[in-house]
Amino acid sequence: MASDDAARIREEYEKQVFDLKQLLEVSKSLNSTLDYGILIESILYTIMGQMKVLKAALYAKKGIDSTRFNLHRNYKGFEIEHGHDYSIPEDAPAMRAFARETRCWTMAELRERFGDLGGLEPLEPMSPTLIVPLKAKGVVNGLILVGEQIVSEDFSDYEKEHLLNIAILASIAINNAFLFEMTTTDMMTKLRMKHYFYTVLLEKMEESAFCEKPLSVIMADIDSFKRFNDTYGHSCGDEVLKGVAKLIQSQTRSVDVAARYGGEEFCMLLPDTDAATARLIADRIRRSVEGMGFDYEGQRIVVTLSLGIAQYDQDRDLTGKSVIDRADKAMYASKQAGKNRVSVSP
Ligand code: GH3
Ligand code: MG
Ligand code: MG
Repeated sequence: MASDDAARIREEYEKQVFDLKQLLEVSKSLNSTLDYGILIESILYTIMGQMKVLKAALYAKKGIDSTRFNLHRNYKGFEIEHGHDYSIPEDAPAMRAFARETRCWTMAELRERFGDLGGLEPLEPMSPTLIVPLKAKGVVNGLILVGEQIVSEDFSDYEKEHLLNIAILASIAINNAFLFEMTTTDMMTKLRMKHYFYTVLLEKMEESAFCEKPLSVIMADIDSFKRFNDTYGHSCGDEVLKGVAKLIQSQTRSVDVAARYGGEEFCMLLPDTDAATARLIADRIRRSVEGMGFDYEGQRIVVTLSLGIAQYDQDRDLTGKSVIDRADKAMYASKQAGKNRVSVSP
């Protein structure tokens, strides 16, 4: 009997050592990226693998000033009703309880505590088995939802604790990625800043040379921008900047980097895109800015852009600055030729 106990205890310790090693691996993997999209994907696959579930999803805030948590589009296994608003307000009663208590919740436990779902009703159609708050420095910065386990009906207390440990690592990683995004994003336009653009440009240049894939840079400058400030005031200028930035963001892919390069100058990095394709994209942006038309305090304001394109050439562009300068020269040629047009660097 005693040896049975000894064998059982040994088995339990071995399992704990194994799980701790797994946590170390999870920590290493989650800390290896500051890219938000890659991080979420990595958290969800980690949870699925560690907890043996086929369904996992994550809620996080979309932006720095967002007051709601949104279901991240990379959810796994859950059936999602299109048209249903899954977002949860940050001040939902359940969210406030999550900040105070560190534990996993079932839907039944939420109902028991709050009478209803404590403001988490939007996620009801997914009927998750467990809801795990993500917290960094006592502040809830997300939620993880998991579905039922493949092998057993219920999660054991030990498994819930393991899940909470993963959640701690995940929330620290999310917080780091969030801080990184904050320090590399221009608050007014919500576009990336110049130094971030430059860092990614150097990475993509290397990738482009190695994989022999094209890479293009677009520079864009608002035409006669000073006139908006001078005629309608600085806040009108700011509104124009925000509007153009939003349009640029919506006209570029998630693999592209759109940045505010300076005052009223923007730049875009387009991986896997040659100059001819970049010209089509730049012209689409140019036309949509021209067609957008701003209404500022009852006045109709027409905004136009001059754009320049340079395709990275590994023989000519030995530095990031070189390809940016060529795009800038092409943009300047657009200005010289009468503005509101696109030019390509030879
Ligand atoms: P061009 O067609 O040659 O580009 O003429 P422009 O008037 O756009 O160019 P210029 O460089 O003479 O003026 C840019 C102006 O942008 C000057 C500056 O006051 C304004 N500006 C820069 N940053 C901001 C900002 O954040 N907000 C506002 N409202 N104005 C800004
Ligand atoms: Mg300028
Ligand atoms: Mg300008």
